[in-house]
Amino acid sequence: MLSSCSYSGSGRENRIIERTEPAMGTIVTIKVSVAPEESETAARDAIGLAMGEIGRVESLFSVYREDSQVARINRSRPNEPLKIDPEVFTLIEKSVGYSKDTDGAFDVTVKPLVDLWKLAKDSGVLPSEKDIREARAKVGYEKIMLDRDGMTISFTTDGMSIDMGGVAKGYATDRAIYILRNNGMQNAIVDSGGDMYCLGTRNSANRWTVGIQHPRDRGRILYKIDLKDEGIDTSGDYEKYFMIGGKRYSHIIDPRTGYPIGDDVTSATIIAKDSETADAYATALCVLGKAGMDIIDKKGLKSIIVRNNNGAMNVEMSKGLTVNGDKIEK
Ligand code: ADP
Ligand code: MG
Repeated sequence: MLSSCSYSGSGRENRIIERTEPAMGTIVTIKVSVAPEESETAARDAIGLAMGEIGRVESLFSVYREDSQVARINRSRPNEPLKIDPEVFTLIEKSVGYSKDTDGAFDVTVKPLVDLWKLAKDSGVLPSEKDIREARAKVGYEKIMLDRDGMTISFTTDGMSIDMGGVAKGYATDRAIYILRNNGMQNAIVDSGGDMYCLGTRNSANRWTVGIQHPRDRGRILYKIDLKDEGIDTSGDYEKYFMIGGKRYSHIIDPRTGYPIGDDVTSATIIAKDSETADAYATALCVLGKAGMDIIDKKGLKSIIVRNNNGAMNVEMSKGLTVNGDKIEK
């Protein structure tokens, strides 16, 4: 989990206009930094529009809303192309790209497995090998057919479904930033439950600072990072997980095995040019573990992995990443 850090200073300072709302199953906070000569009303209006945009994105991609485009796609019959919204098409197409680029560690078609493990969570009974095998047969990004000319999607296999949960919050964050910029805001931060983007700076002297939480100690910040015009996201096993028989199970599934990821990676943070990329690759890096850092480096992304070494947190970060230092705040 990430959080934007408060900052104290002196003199004629920028004011921070801020609003927090529940959306996308999490809490969204938008902050705009307003210079002394700028209008607070304009900032408030822009924040309202950006929140509205997040609601719009949610209504397109949520699997919980029967009328969403994704819900419609998931009800479609195999090999029957369904015409969809260009915006939805594009994010699915990009998600298939993230799936390819991570060798299926991120897989947009993982939903049959997510559903199986959701059932386990609710019932307290683990799925059988057969259940896992059957769900796995319905997973695989290469089984999605996309036709850009006709703007259609179809599945090649019965029972397939897509889950945009690993990428939609990042996309919504980027859309909110787009709306803020379009409405004249130059310095802002959007935080969709940890999927963040830092636009511009906090004020003339300071960049936005993001704190990376200690994965086992909520109140503690492991690292602080200064960001400007970048997205950042952390995925991990510590916010959303469930227990069966005393064992901890992550909400992130390894599509290659059909099981929730093990406890090698406690949290993975990605810094990227946008929040959508950070979101997708943070999920992938949780699945891939340390081995995934090569893929991340090649993509030109920055990463921080926190691994649990018998209770001690081992931190590894990609080359060239500068942080303010560890254990700054308690
Ligand atoms: P968070 O929900 O905390 O933002 P993530 O961005 O890692 O965390 O997204 C996790 C969600 O993505 C899960 O709840 C599930 O819906 C979906 N998911 C789980 N495993 C994968 C995977 N391997 N690839 C793509 N999506 C996944
Ligand atoms: Mg993600």
